[in-house]
Amino acid sequence: MSDSAHVVIIGAGPAGIFAALELARNGMTDVLMVEKGHAISKRRCPARETSCVGCRTCDIMTGWGGAGAFSDGKLTLTTEVGGWLPDYVERAALEELLAYSDGLWLEFGATDEVHGPDPQTAADLQREATLAGMRLVPMRIRHLGTDRSPQVLDAMRQHLEAVGVRIRTEVAAVRILAEENRVSGVELSDGATVRTSTVIAAPGREGADWLAGQARTLKIPLTNNAVDIGVRVECPAPVMERLTTPLYEAKLVYHTKSFGDPVRTFCMNPYGEVTTESYGDVVTVNGHSFAESKTDYTNFAVLVSQRFTEPFDDPLAYGRSIARLANLLGDGILVQRYSDLKAGRRSTPERITQGLTVPTLAGATPGDLAAVLPYRHLTDIIEFVEALDALVPGIAGPSTLMYGVEVKFYSSRLEVDADLQTSVEGLFAIGDGAGITRGLVQAGASGVIAARAIIRHR
Ligand SMILES: Cc1cc2nc3c(=O)[nH]c(=O)nc-3n(C[C@H](O)[C@H](O)[C@H](O)COP(=O)(O)OP(=O)(O)OC[C@H]3O[C@@H](n4cnc5c(N)ncnc54)[C@H](O)[C@@H]3O)c2cc1C
Repeated sequence: MSDSAHVVIIGAGPAGIFAALELARNGMTDVLMVEKGHAISKRRCPARETSCVGCRTCDIMTGWGGAGAFSDGKLTLTTEVGGWLPDYVERAALEELLAYSDGLWLEFGATDEVHGPDPQTAADLQREATLAGMRLVPMRIRHLGTDRSPQVLDAMRQHLEAVGVRIRTEVAAVRILAEENRVSGVELSDGATVRTSTVIAAPGREGADWLAGQARTLKIPLTNNAVDIGVRVECPAPVMERLTTPLYEAKLVYHTKSFGDPVRTFCMNPYGEVTTESYGDVVTVNGHSFAESKTDYTNFAVLVSQRFTEPFDDPLAYGRSIARLANLLGDGILVQRYSDLKAGRRSTPERITQGLTVPTLAGATPGDLAAVLPYRHLTDIIEFVEALDALVPGIAGPSTLMYGVEVKFYSSRLEVDADLQTSVEGLFAIGDGAGITRGLVQAGASGVIAARAIIRHR
């Protein structure tokens, strides 16, 4: 069976969707989107009721909307986080591009409320952070909420279908075809081959290994990004309120005394829940919060960045091994009170109940993160929490829980030019799967960059 399209987009996460929106907005609608996961109405994650059961198709990571669909939907409106687009686009142009992408979220139903500190509060908190030895990066955030994101993404689907973009879910791209270093088509999992001169590959973290394999076959150079390894911290919400009330999300960066490693906070969820994330045979921890319903707790990740040079250069395998060890000891996710970790003893269900935080992740096993995390990471995390206690008194106390492990796998990065086009003519690589972004806003913006280049050259 054979089909054709002017542009084939692989993956319907924010990167692929925003590419399609920008193409359609400029009159280019002979576009086929293929998405290996389910339509948004069919996406159901059993882990909302139990812990991760390792579905064959993970409805959290795949399907219309991509990993963004059930994500917390925090649109961080700054060039400082969310990916490596500053490597390709000048800062002023990137700021405009992020504002444009934010406008698309708004157009399809995102809330118009933006969280962010007033300048005086930001300056005061930055001063206090400096005294605690940390750098505080103030950010403006539009929070969709896990419950509202699917509606916004579905409104985008309806619009794209209405203007003639073809969308096929539950169909994977199997092979990107090229002749004489030019894209010629895409083979699909249903046996069809689509003839095309332009492919936008946006397969997200879920499809990163597949895309790296395609890049190797097509002789597109790849480089490794770092891997971030750490824990998800959960505490009573009032403890973090001096940061979360004015800032919503506090982005803190600290360099540890023992190793000089950068340790940072990531994905802060005031009044949220801790969740799991599945990567095939390993389960890691994550977090989200709902726009409408709230818990009494706040969670956030504390991550240590690890980059390898030689002879070992497989950060994904390293992160996976640590996550696998945590899964082995915890039969999934481990949880430990910070005070137990510092006292050098495991947590037990009884010790957990002595603290004020009731774990929001059902099924996490009380245990000992010291048996899992490398000495370097553990030391970095403890130093970070002790430093944070100067800014947020109480965070180093007995009511703070740590879930392990949280791993942020950043895909190997495909070599691309400023249009995000690879050395294979007509093949664009965007979003998290190409190792270029790691957040909703930059992922969407990368789609706009590729689409604009295609429009320019049509
Ligand atoms: C639980 C969770 C919470 C998050 N919270 C936030 C947040 O609050 N703020 C933020 O900025 N970011 C957040 N993120 C990250 C954000 O979701 C991602 O950065 C973003 O979704 C990346 O967009 P993408 O389009 O590049 O990839 P994805 O969203 O991963 O989409 C890629 C799509 O491609 C599909 N695909 C893969 N391979 C193939 C193939 N071969 N053929 C066809 N389809 C394929 C996948 O099924 C997937 O649907 C969160 C992520 C998770 C998992």
